[in-house]
Amino acid sequence: MKNRVATLREIEKKSFDLCVIGGGATGAGCALDAQLRGLRTVLIEAGDFACATSSSSTKLIHGGVRYLEQAIAERDAGQYHVVKRALRERKIMLNNAPFLANPIELMVPCFSWCEIYYFRIGMKLYDWISGPNLLFQSRHLSKEESLRRMPMLMSDGLVGTIAYADGQFDDTRYNLALLQTFTKSGGEALNYAKVVGFKKNGNGQLVQARAQDGLSDNYIDVQARAFINATGPFADGIRELAKPGVRQRLRLSKGSHILLPMDAAAGNDALLVPKTDDGRVIFAIPWLGRLLVGTTDEDITLQDEMVVKEAEAEYLLKQLNRYLVRPLNKNQIVSGFAGMRPLVASVNSRRTKELIRDHEVEVDSSSGLISVLGGKWTTYRAMAEDAIDAAMKFLAIPAVPCITSKHRLTGSEKWSPNFWEELVREYGISKETARHLSHKFGTAAKEVLDLAKEDSRLREPIVEGSASVLAEVVYGVREEMATAIEDILARRTGLQFFSWEQARAAAPAVGAIIARELGWSPGQQKDAVEGYISKIGRLMDLIGLGSPGSRRLSVG
Ligand SMILES: Cc1cc2nc3c(=O)[nH]c(=O)nc-3n(C[C@H](O)[C@H](O)[C@H](O)COP(=O)(O)OP(=O)(O)OC[C@H]3O[C@@H](n4cnc5c(N)ncnc54)[C@H](O)[C@@H]3O)c2cc1C
Repeated sequence: MKNRVATLREIEKKSFDLCVIGGGATGAGCALDAQLRGLRTVLIEAGDFACATSSSSTKLIHGGVRYLEQAIAERDAGQYHVVKRALRERKIMLNNAPFLANPIELMVPCFSWCEIYYFRIGMKLYDWISGPNLLFQSRHLSKEESLRRMPMLMSDGLVGTIAYADGQFDDTRYNLALLQTFTKSGGEALNYAKVVGFKKNGNGQLVQARAQDGLSDNYIDVQARAFINATGPFADGIRELAKPGVRQRLRLSKGSHILLPMDAAAGNDALLVPKTDDGRVIFAIPWLGRLLVGTTDEDITLQDEMVVKEAEAEYLLKQLNRYLVRPLNKNQIVSGFAGMRPLVASVNSRRTKELIRDHEVEVDSSSGLISVLGGKWTTYRAMAEDAIDAAMKFLAIPAVPCITSKHRLTGSEKWSPNFWEELVREYGISKETARHLSHKFGTAAKEVLDLAKEDSRLREPIVEGSASVLAEVVYGVREEMATAIEDILARRTGLQFFSWEQARAAAPAVGAIIARELGWSPGQQKDAVEGYISKIGRLMDLIGLGSPGSRRLSVG
């Protein structure tokens, strides 16, 4: 990625075929697809790339067994096709960035033979719908085998488990990899630039978007022939800017997750809790060295803050603990995050968990705005394909076939699961750091480590005990447009999701490097570090983990 100043210059100088608004999964997918089909494309993101829903998912690449259950219960063919399409996309996502995604086996605990038969048939159907995209066959595991695989499971009354396959991924880095691939293909991507208005031509069609630079407060005018609204939960706001008074389409639902140490769970397998008090399912999944537990489901508005509250954490633990031999408790929580599901409003249902996770591409004929609404991470590519087909039609350009299903993302070239060993040999780094870098950057990890050739201190851990190294901070600023401590700790290295405590302790070192790279004054650096530390302290307080010592950490 070019640096921000150079990108700003290019955007103001050029006129584009397509402007994509929103830098989450949907926007990044649309931008890459468009650029690969030959459209000169620019992407504008209000915050940091992947700062909203796309970094707050359950990290599953799935058709959705629960949606399949609904499809059968309600004899809903539409829902069935959504599941089928997602299962095809699951395989594509795994193939296109193998360093960021992998198949996992999930286990459903059963406490009667009735449940065994029910889930066995359901999962066989899930396998069957997967067709050629099946990852591996579902199977019944005896009680003994289940407890051997998952010692944390409650053994009283357990009859066995049904194990089935889905995909799992690093959502935030997948989002960044899409953007890296996009900019490497010639596109322009800018973060911290919020679209605040449009200019129209005499026919009422959009010809320019005005964005406010979040770092300087200056305005940036972006000229394009077509505009895609890929702002997820915020899409109604952009629709309103293009056509005041338009009917709102989205329903929002909040989902919270908590993370716990893996040894609290004892085992490496993923659990699907099939029944919760609110009729949903909950996952407890090993993810990047932690046990990720989620999610809740609550109707919200755009004004609600996306933070995990104590009651939500307690709800998740209560549902999970019913299935565990040794209950987990709140004090074991190391991190958490929450996000907003952008669901397309349905006239038939008021409950968000019953809305289908499908998407819709809406072309507003009066303004020309193309909005991509709803969907899920797993189907981001298919959503982008539909949106770019619509954009080409709108632009009256002869249709160019979409090639993203076979376009591997940056970092995948020559990557193999053993690539980390090459990093250990070539750069003399620890196995933990090599594995971490291999899974965050793929083969681009070498570009990160090459930075440490000029300055060997960059090989040091970002904070004691972490696999992340300081070179990632420099790389994040120079190559991935990071401009804030949270950009690095949450979205470039992922440390904030691994441990709030470690992220807070890393803030001064990260702040010092960003300050050097971006020329911050000592005052700016101090404010940035203290602001980050107090933000993390607040997240811990909200979940009920605050301690007086936690707030004493600050810069002198
Ligand atoms: C709790 C939860 C769990 C989930 N789990 C899964 C899962 O396991 N698997 C799965 O497949 N899906 C999952 N999903 C769904 C999936 O995460 C979302 O469908 C997907 O991330 C939406 O991506 P998006 O790009 O449309 O939206 P977002 O990621 O929210 O991106 C929209 C972007 O637009 C930007 N924006 C807003 N306004 C403006 C403006 N005026 N100008 C410029 N930019 C703007 C925002 O800053 C934001 O970055 C989950 C969702 C939630 C909430």
